[in-house]
Amino acid sequence: MDKNAFLEKVREGAELIKMHIELGHTIRIVSHRDADGITAGAILAKALAREGADFHLSIVKQLGEDTLKELAEEKQKIYVFSDLGSGSIKLIENYLKDVSVVIADHHPPEDGEIEQENHILVNPTQFGADSVRDLSGSGVAYFIARAINEKNRDLSHLALVGAVGDMQEIDGQFHGMNLDIIEDAKRLDLIELRKELRLFGRETRTLAQMLAYASNPELPGITGDLRNAIEFLRSKGFDPDMKYWQLREEEKRKLHDALVIHLIKNNASKEDIDRLIGDVVLIKLYPEGDPRHEAREFATLLNATGRLNMGTLGVAICLGDEKSFKEALKLVDEYKKEQIEMRRYLIQNWSNAVEKEHAYIFYAGKNIKDTMVGIAATMAINSQLAKPEKPVIVLADSEENGLVKGSARTTKRGIEKGYDLGEALRKAAEILGGEGGGHAIAAGIRIPKDKIDEFTELIDKLLGEQNSNGGRDEN
Ligand code: C5P
Ligand code: C5P
Ligand code: C5P
Ligand code: ZN
Repeated sequence: MDKNAFLEKVREGAELIKMHIELGHTIRIVSHRDADGITAGAILAKALAREGADFHLSIVKQLGEDTLKELAEEKQKIYVFSDLGSGSIKLIENYLKDVSVVIADHHPPEDGEIEQENHILVNPTQFGADSVRDLSGSGVAYFIARAINEKNRDLSHLALVGAVGDMQEIDGQFHGMNLDIIEDAKRLDLIELRKELRLFGRETRTLAQMLAYASNPELPGITGDLRNAIEFLRSKGFDPDMKYWQLREEEKRKLHDALVIHLIKNNASKEDIDRLIGDVVLIKLYPEGDPRHEAREFATLLNATGRLNMGTLGVAICLGDEKSFKEALKLVDEYKKEQIEMRRYLIQNWSNAVEKEHAYIFYAGKNIKDTMVGIAATMAINSQLAKPEKPVIVLADSEENGLVKGSARTTKRGIEKGYDLGEALRKAAEILGGEGGGHAIAAGIRIPKDKIDEFTELIDKLLGEQNSNGGRDEN
């Protein structure tokens, strides 16, 4: 990617924000409610507080017409969107005329062009970056914060938590400008980057739980089965009640070897073996055993707040508030438990999935929460219910009446076949009435419930067209 051109855009965005700070205007920040968006919001909030600026921050599920209407009615002089906005450019251009806008986002912009001079899109995909690997929304927010004031380099660890929340290192390694953030964080001695076991639970779960909860990748015969996890650990000479962080280095290596052999014996794919052990970010500001010490646990804590519409609690955690942190701890246990139950439900009911030539469509009604369908789609792939090259779309009844929320996920192999889920869902929503979009590998949609059958046919057709046009190897 063209880093310098991107950083030039970053400077433009930062200058516009600084100008409004000097004018004494309230900076209106709106950010996405997952870990990436929450950390992005926290980074911007901290940067603005440092400048003595007035700001107002909201964490939202999506940036639809209703939200934009309400924002416009506030009549602010400047709006800053983070980890969202690129999919709503037409609406932004329409509702926020004559005021300043900075969109700090990493989603591929597909919907219209920026028309107004005082609207700036800061998006690495416009400079050749891959939206799901090279930089996340919190990373974009970080570079803007750094351009506002060099001091904000001390927020670099938060940008890495956001990157991990978005699974930017899903193949086991960080890429692109995420590496520059790692360098900043290391230079300030904020983090340590280690090659370790990349499963959730390094700090707070027992080894048995860590293995039984494994989802990225799954461990055949162990994921979802605590007893087998305990058995496996005992047979290799480990105490299943120990935590990973408590292991000595040679014990960690022994565990890694045992797990890799287990995957090989069970014919796991090379991708799964490669990503089991890899980059793990440890945040030195927190002690071992604290979920905030490791980026994946930190991100999960934030995701647990976001999906309950408590995203601002997540922001407070990022800003160091201990009371908010303690409150959120309870939410994570519930969140993880729900994921385990959901996996069981998926496995038991997968025979109801409609398998088309180019996608699986699984409608879960009210059995899966609309905030969990993305994780469900990932699970269907990782648990081998679905073939990895065929996209999975999980739908569930939405919180909003009469609508269903869908999440689509695929893998590198799906991308190589030419599929672009963000584009397909955007088109489907346009045709059926709804909103959709996102990355090529992970995207979302909301449509009327009575259109599910129509959607099933349409999405197969749209993906089929991509498959016959594309199918090139993008690597
Ligand atoms: O909303 P947004 O950009 O913030 O989130 C990215 C989404 O893409 C997350 O849900 C993340 O888990 C998903 N993802 C994925 N596979 C990847 C990379 C990201 O499912 N390889
Ligand atoms: O895919 P998306 O970003 O919506 O996932 C939200 C969060 O759930 C991420 O932090 C991701 O790491 C986590 N997740 C998980 N188990 C999965 C899939 C996602 O813990 N199987
Ligand atoms: O909603 P879900 O987690 O499935 O979204 C996957 C990715 O698609 C996220 O990055 C999300 O921000 C994006 N998305 C989008 N426009 C939508 C729905 C989802 O850009 N209408
Ligand atoms: Zn993001």
